[in-house]
Amino acid sequence: MKPFAYARPADVAEAVREVAADPAAVFLGGGTNLVDHLRLGVATPDRVVDVRRLTSREITDTGDGGLRVGAAVTNSELAADPRIRAHYRVRAPAVRAGASGQLRNLATTGGNPLQRTRCVYFQDVTTPCNKRFPGSGCSAVGGYTRYHAILGIPAALPDPTAPETCIATHPSDMAVALAALDAQVEVLGPAGARTLPFPDLHRLPGDDPSRDTVLEHGELITAIDLPPLAPSARSAYRKVRDRASYAFALVSVAAVVDDDSVRIALGGVAHKPWRASRAEEILRGRPLTEDAVRAAMEAELAAAQPQPGIDGGNGFKIPLVTRTVVATLRDLAGEEL
Ligand SMILES: Cc1cc2nc3c(=O)[nH]c(=O)nc-3n(C[C@H](O)[C@H](O)[C@H](O)COP(=O)(O)OP(=O)(O)OC[C@H]3O[C@@H](n4cnc5c(N)ncnc54)[C@H](O)[C@@H]3O)c2cc1C
Ligand code: SF4
Repeated sequence: MKPFAYARPADVAEAVREVAADPAAVFLGGGTNLVDHLRLGVATPDRVVDVRRLTSREITDTGDGGLRVGAAVTNSELAADPRIRAHYRVRAPAVRAGASGQLRNLATTGGNPLQRTRCVYFQDVTTPCNKRFPGSGCSAVGGYTRYHAILGIPAALPDPTAPETCIATHPSDMAVALAALDAQVEVLGPAGARTLPFPDLHRLPGDDPSRDTVLEHGELITAIDLPPLAPSARSAYRKVRDRASYAFALVSVAAVVDDDSVRIALGGVAHKPWRASRAEEILRGRPLTEDAVRAAMEAELAAAQPQPGIDGGNGFKIPLVTRTVVATLRDLAGEEL
């Protein structure tokens, strides 16, 4: 492991200043992802700035019926909070679906959505990877693609040698729930504080697959706000994986349904939690029959690009996503579906 300096500043403002001033500095939350990457040589910072004890570890009422979750709240604390369990049913199971009890005791609300892809080549420093080493190429194309993307892949790609190519998926379960809930991310950076909609936090690879999010260097997540849900709202999370625990999603679905609308976010299918906006639009105001949901998902997945691979590829995700959305909405819609 490359040696690095460890800093524990006095407050968040100092932490932001320290990281912003040093391009080779990073924030440390619970460390459950970053420390692995330090050991593997995937992350090679000169300076690690510990923010775990600086950001809030409280979940507070926002006054409008919503909740503010401090960035240092652990995944276990979040999943156990009675207000989350009662009003944001999609969120607690999404958190509990991640990792293991021990990891959830350490993992933070700020660090979880910023965990990096589990693409095996990203974690193997002996292989080309545009995300880890920009311009080196993408080893996943034609390789192991079972856990890789089918949506948000530029039409001209994937070309394994192009510097833009990346077919990785975002791994966080919690982030899929936050995208469906239209959460807001509170950020403090060198230019001050800003708030951004959670569905806009993560990005597609575009021309720079090394960047997972729109955050600038030195920007710290201080809290995540959950807006109030309509009284009629029901929500749920379903995760499909290769084994029952300690496994990332092959696909996952977070859905929020109320009298007027349905919100659907998909995990395991793209470089970011994928809001199924096309399907949502088609389903708005319509009874959630199985035929209607299947037709909406067919439209949503029309642009999907399943990837071939030495493990059989990931074309299975197209019917699997649709089945999982149908099952999730069936849970929420009762007899209708
Ligand atoms: C064996 C194993 C299985 C797992 N299974 C799952 C799973 O099934 N589902 C799932 O969702 N997750 C899973 N995880 C991942 C786990 O949930 C994440 O490692 C964890 O949530 C990351 O949070 P952290 O606080 O430890 O982040 P860290 O490891 O501390 O940081 C992660 C990244 O976020 C940055 N960062 C941290 N805090 C902030 C902040 N406040 N503002 C800005 N940047 C910040 C760091 O610089 C780093 O880049 C698994 C992990 C392991 C090791
Ligand atoms: S899919 Fe992305 S993360 Fe994986 S090898 Fe290709 S560039 Fe790297």
